[in-house]
Amino acid sequence: MSETSIFRVGDGPVQISRQQLQRRVTELGERIRSDHHDHELHLICVLNGAFMFMADLVRAIDLPLTVDFLSVSSYGSRTESSGEVKLVKDLDQSLKGRHVLLVEDIVDTGLTMQYLLGYLRGRGPLSVEVVTLLSKPSRRVVEVPLDYVGFEIEDAFVYGYGLDVAHRYRNMPFVTSQSEA
Ligand code: 5GP
Repeated sequence: MSETSIFRVGDGPVQISRQQLQRRVTELGERIRSDHHDHELHLICVLNGAFMFMADLVRAIDLPLTVDFLSVSSYGSRTESSGEVKLVKDLDQSLKGRHVLLVEDIVDTGLTMQYLLGYLRGRGPLSVEVVTLLSKPSRRVVEVPLDYVGFEIEDAFVYGYGLDVAHRYRNMPFVTSQSEA
């Protein structure tokens, strides 16, 4: 996906409305459909944060596809990454012979994504691509390949639309960095 099609959220508090999310997810779904029209996709959702993005994204991809879920721990209930990544819930299905699209909520330092890509590639898929709703490029500690990015944002802790603060606020239909949301 070309750099120019990445939607950037500028300076100040991050606020991404329900309508902006809906529009961008539709665009991502259309792009993914046109890039993958000749084979079946296997989407893997990184729980818990990506659950809402995943649910909207699969409905925006007009192709035969399969889904699976995994969970890693990296943040706990704090707002800073521990840098340690641990698999908490494993996949149910094999990746052998499949084209995998990993669905993530946000890429911050990149450490979680680096771990996940190593893990998935070791399980024999035909290919692995990544779609992330949000990315904070200024926070990157390791470079990771991101094939589809919803929004690039500044360095701010955000929540809503699946993302939490100490397990709360995942059900908000928009993304914000403001504490009084
Ligand atoms: P990384 O390993 O890239 O530093 O962090 C990735 C994980 O940290 C994400 O999957 C997400 O769970 C959590 N994370 C990173 N930044 C934020 C943020 O701004 N808000 C929330 N709620 N979680 C975040």
